[in-house]
Amino acid sequence: MSARGGEAPEQGGAGDDRELPWLAAPLRHTLETRQAHALLIHGPGGVGQFELALALAKGWLCEANDRPLVDRPCGRCASCKLQAARSHPDLLVLVPEALRESLGWDLGGGEGDDAGEGGKRKPSKEIRVEAVRAAIAFATTTSARGLGKVVVVHPAERMNEIAASAFLKTLEEPAGDARFLLCSAAPGGLLPTIRSRCQEVVLPVPPARDAETWLTRQGVAQPGVLLAASGGQPQEALELAERGIDAKYWLALPQRIAVGDATALQGWSLPSAVDALQKICHDTASLACGGAPRYFPRDRLNGDADLGALLRWSRELGRVAAEVDHPWGVDLAIESLVGQGREALKTPRSRGRSGEGLSLNSTG
Ligand SMILES: [Zn+2]
Repeated sequence: MSARGGEAPEQGGAGDDRELPWLAAPLRHTLETRQAHALLIHGPGGVGQFELALALAKGWLCEANDRPLVDRPCGRCASCKLQAARSHPDLLVLVPEALRESLGWDLGGGEGDDAGEGGKRKPSKEIRVEAVRAAIAFATTTSARGLGKVVVVHPAERMNEIAASAFLKTLEEPAGDARFLLCSAAPGGLLPTIRSRCQEVVLPVPPARDAETWLTRQGVAQPGVLLAASGGQPQEALELAERGIDAKYWLALPQRIAVGDATALQGWSLPSAVDALQKICHDTASLACGGAPRYFPRDRLNGDADLGALLRWSRELGRVAAEVDHPWGVDLAIESLVGQGREALKTPRSRGRSGEGLSLNSTG
C-alpha cells in the first residue's frame, strides 16, 4: 500500500522513498532460496507482502547481468525503470478493482478485469475469472525482454471460486516461463490445492524498532502508540495516521467508548469501527483475566470490568464483523455497538465503589 496522501504512487523495492526497510533481508533470502515457479507470500496484513512481491518481480526481471541475483534489483537498468513506471511488458499485477486506487495500481496491469464495461458498476472486491484468464493468456506468451514473465496476485484469497479453479489449472500444468507470486494475509481462504502447489514465504511482523523508524520517517508522531494499535503492523499504523487518528486520539478512545460517546467513531467505516471496538474489548478482557493488554496501555483501560459482559459484547462485535453488508446504516450500527460497549466496560456494582462505574486514572 504505497500510494497515499495524494503523493505520486511509488513501487516498493530498491530505491524509492517509501521503501520498507524490513523487506531487504526477506528479499535477499527469497531470491536466494526460492526457485519454484509459484510462491505464496503470507503473513499478517500491513507488513508488506505486496511490496515484497513487486520487489521480487523487479529482482527476477532486472537486467543488471553483472550482479548476482541476490543483489538485484539494481534500480537503474531499463527493466527496473520500466517497472518503476509500471509499464514493464513482462509483469502483470492482478488486484481487485476496489483495491487498485489504494494500492496505487490503477494504471497498468489487470487489463483483463473488464474495467472498460459498464462504467458505473461498483468496483469489484474480487479477482474475477476474466482477469485470471487474461493473466493465464499473458503467462503463456513469449517474454518480451527475454527474462521470463511474472504475474503478481494480490490478495490471492480474493480470487472467487471459478477464478481460483482456473488459476489452479495453470499451476498444475505450467506453460511458458512465467512465475507466479501470490500474496495473502489470509492463506486459509485459499484453495488447499493452490496452496500446496506454491513454495511458501512467510513474512512476519517486523521488529518494532525498524517499524517505528520507518513510521517516523513517514511523519508519524509517537509511532509506538499507533504501532501497538495496529498489532505491530506498520502499514496499518500508517493508514491510521493518514485517516487522522493520532496517538492522542487512540489513547483517549477506550474512555470515550466507556462513557458511550459514539461520536468518537464518527466517519469511520463499520469494519474499522468494529476493529477498534474489538481491540478495546480484547484488552479489557485480557486485563480482567490477569493478562496484559496488547493494543492500548494498561492505564487507559478499566481493569475491573465484568468478563461475562465483555464476552457478550465480543460476540456481538464478531457477529457484526461477519456481516459483509450490514442491513442498518453504519452510524446506527456503531451507536448500538458503542452502547453495548459502555455497559461492558463498566465496573460491576458489586465490585465498584458505590457504583461509580469506571476506575480510570487519566482522561487523556
Ligand atoms: Zn535492474
